[in-house]
Amino acid sequence: MKENIFGKDINACEALMTELGEAKYRGKQLYQWLYQKRCENFSEMTNFSSALREKLDGQYIEAVLMHYEHGASLCVSTQVGCNMGCKFCASTRGGKIRDLTAGEILAQIYLAEKDENLRISNVVIMGIGEPLENYDAVIKFIRIANTGFGIGQRKISLSTCGIIPGIEALAEENLQINLAISLHSVFAERRKQLMPIANRYDFEPLMEACRAYFKKTGRRITYEYALIDGYNDRDEDITGLIKLLKGSQNHLNLIGLNEVQETPYKESPRLSYILGVLEKNGVNVTMRRKMGRDIDAACGQLRKKRYKDKVSL
Ligand code: SAH
Repeated sequence: MKENIFGKDINACEALMTELGEAKYRGKQLYQWLYQKRCENFSEMTNFSSALREKLDGQYIEAVLMHYEHGASLCVSTQVGCNMGCKFCASTRGGKIRDLTAGEILAQIYLAEKDENLRISNVVIMGIGEPLENYDAVIKFIRIANTGFGIGQRKISLSTCGIIPGIEALAEENLQINLAISLHSVFAERRKQLMPIANRYDFEPLMEACRAYFKKTGRRITYEYALIDGYNDRDEDITGLIKLLKGSQNHLNLIGLNEVQETPYKESPRLSYILGVLEKNGVNVTMRRKMGRDIDAACGQLRKKRYKDKVSL
């Protein structure tokens, strides 16, 4: 959904430009284009660079609809791009452009329901962006999705790369949502190599925050683990996962890596084997069903593709 720019006063035009990282005087120029020159198209605003025109012309985000037997599930984005820098992820490659508002996140449900003429019963906050880095808007979104759209809190899952202060704050919200943590390695150093955010929020303190979250909320945590060939699918990784999760109430979701061009990471051929070994060893584990790969609807690839058609990334 794009915000209508027509009707913005001079202050709002200047604020918009500042928000976009542009000089303030650009706001005055925009004001002139809108109301003096009555220009209807950003592409005709010739004293703006093509990069700025692109910014004004809106950004793409993605929301992915999945049909399950138990209903329709929607994967929503919370930011335009992402700053977390996970090495295997497509969403983060161009950095973060901006946070989405609660309304823009809600609009993804609204539009999916309207376009497809159905009701969304489950929401996974696992699209583009790090939800706990856009905390206030995401909490507002969850509350309105719940009490406004009528989606049960237990039908909403939020995935984070491990922002500890966000997890601590979320524990205090008194919500019944499902929390998922992107784990991807049980070894602190290896996790840092894959997920730079782990340099700020290290493995052990993260596990401590998860234990505290469970204690406070009584909600079991899901750990997400995308299996990468030769990287986190080795025997010692399996042993590490067993050690971490055996007998625990928490749940492990194994994911087949969606290979992203321009990255060296390959999907592990050991997924079924690892699933079996973990099950045998008392780990509460499932495998994520693969959906959407045929249309590149996995992990930020839609936006990347769409964006690439317009400007080179
Ligand atoms: N920023 C949040 C939510 C968005 S990513 C987070 O990191 O959790 C949603 C999930 O998809 C995360 O577990 C993420 O690590 C995973 N993911 C990202 N790129 C992937 C890829 N190429 N293949 C498989 N899973 C991926």
